[in-house]
Amino acid sequence: MVQTVKVPPEFSYILENIKEISYNVNNAKAKYRSEGDTVEIMAVTKTVEPEKVNFAVSQGITLLGENRVQEYLSKKDSYDKSAKVHIIGHLQTNKVKYIINDVDMIQSVDSLKLANEINRLAEKNSRVMDVLLEVNIGDEASKSGVSAQALYELAGQISVLDNIRIRGLMAIPPIGADESVFEHMKELFEGLKEKKLRNMQADVLSMGMSGDYELAIKHGSNLVRIGTKLFGARKYMEV
Ligand SMILES: *Cc1c(COP(=O)(O)O)cnc(C)c1O
Repeated sequence: MVQTVKVPPEFSYILENIKEISYNVNNAKAKYRSEGDTVEIMAVTKTVEPEKVNFAVSQGITLLGENRVQEYLSKKDSYDKSAKVHIIGHLQTNKVKYIINDVDMIQSVDSLKLANEINRLAEKNSRVMDVLLEVNIGDEASKSGVSAQALYELAGQISVLDNIRIRGLMAIPPIGADESVFEHMKELFEGLKEKKLRNMQADVLSMGMSGDYELAIKHGSNLVRIGTKLFGARKYMEV
């Protein structure tokens, strides 16, 4: 249920932003996508106080994106537990143990080493972890992610791990990337689905941020990750 009463004035801009983003998402869906397609809006919470995050949750945002394990651990007890949490930032192998029982998905899997550790700890905790494979679609040295060329080989290797379920792909296209880059991601996603790998249910294409979510929806994204457009400019630079 979305609350409509008593919006604290200091949070009202968040409500306005949610309305605007939802409106734009619905427009892009109507323009570019098939009837019945869904696009989920994730709130990216880096540097944002839990009170603001919880306000967004009270207004219908049901998915949170966490970049840094340290920051997440310091905030998670204050979060409204009704929202799901996905790890979206680069995840070091030695940090998996801190989040394995708390998060619903890890979107930033880009190596077999990381997948092996997720699988090992998921098994130990009697669960199956949903993951996305992060693709470095712009081949940028500064970004993590598996290259497009190596993607299917990595997917094949991960698919034998029984405590991991591959749910799809994630990407951060380069700033100002043209549409062909987004379309390439869509093709990789469609190609992945055709592989019919074990332990795979490829139904998530996580692509699109504050500056490009409409374009991403045009090219098949069904999960957009929004930070600045939702909560305003961040207080410090992120990695
Ligand atoms: C910060 C971040 C976002 C959100 O970026 P905005 O441009 O602020 O919307 C999305 N995805 C990832 C992986 C991020 O690190």
